[in-house]
Amino acid sequence: MRQKIVAGNWKMHGSLVANQQLLTQLHAALDGYGGATFAVCVPAPYLAQTQSLLTGSAIAWGAQNLSAHKAGAYTGEVSASMLLDFACRYVIVGHSERRALYGETDQVVAAKFAAARDAGLTPILCVGEALAERESGMAEQVIARQLDAVLAVAGIAGFARAIVAYEPVWAIGTGKTATPEQAQAVHAFIRHKLAMVDEGIASRLIIQYGGSVKAANAAELFAQPDIDGGLIGGASLMADEFISICKAALS
Ligand code: PEP
Repeated sequence: MRQKIVAGNWKMHGSLVANQQLLTQLHAALDGYGGATFAVCVPAPYLAQTQSLLTGSAIAWGAQNLSAHKAGAYTGEVSASMLLDFACRYVIVGHSERRALYGETDQVVAAKFAAARDAGLTPILCVGEALAERESGMAEQVIARQLDAVLAVAGIAGFARAIVAYEPVWAIGTGKTATPEQAQAVHAFIRHKLAMVDEGIASRLIIQYGGSVKAANAAELFAQPDIDGGLIGGASLMADEFISICKAALS
């Protein structure tokens, strides 16, 4: 039995004042629930604040990106060990915005995945197809390619302590959610693909859905057999919405 994980992706939003209020509300509302795991992935400058406000709470935290390198002349980059200095548990890798806006290839994403894992962080590997790819029947092929790049570098063992987030690009921040059936079909495909390599690892793998999840649609999505929680963008910035989504993962 897999325990669901709901993680917020704040993207490039927040301020010390706004975070203080949001994190305090989440801390108060989500304490004492043992049936699911909750996390927030915040912009790197707010990791210290997040650590200080959430230590001792039921909410874990993480980052949205990391360097594939351990240290060195990489101006502007943040390494896995730096994230560990702030007690991060999770780091998102391969978000579609990183792939599309910052040119992160499947190989770069795989290297980041391996760097996170090697350091002891849990990578949240985002995979998903663009609208044109779905419409031309290529969704599974795209996702298989994204997974194969990670398998080539980290092996199936890499998925033993990792999360995969299926995030159809056409559903991110658009208000267009995949139907529970559409999402379930892709989640089952991902699990089946990895099960061909190692059934045990695939059956324990957490596969989150991400793409315009809201309080109103979370329960139906999370009820699907292969959907193990969500990666939540816009709605994770609104305390009441995010709390309701987290609670939908409990049932
Ligand atoms: C995301 O940024 O990972 C995401 C799923 O965004 P949203 O929930 O806003 O679609």
